[in-house]
Amino acid sequence: MASSQEPGASAFDRLRSHYADSRASCPECGHEDTEGGWRVTTSGSRVSYQRVCPSCGAVDALELRL
Ligand SMILES: [Zn+2]
Repeated sequence: MASSQEPGASAFDRLRSHYADSRASCPECGHEDTEGGWRVTTSGSRVSYQRVCPSCGAVDALELRL
């Protein structure tokens, strides 16, 4: 059983899955993106998440500060 607890290393993954879960469907057309195709970019202390809806092309973006 692998239960790795690496402080910091999994923070991105936790955030990503949290937001991917709560924003799994397109706010415009309601298309459910089961692939979870969030694109993550970081700059300094900010993390930006961006996803383009494969159905209607709407861009959903989030920005977080670490
Ligand atoms: Zn859409």
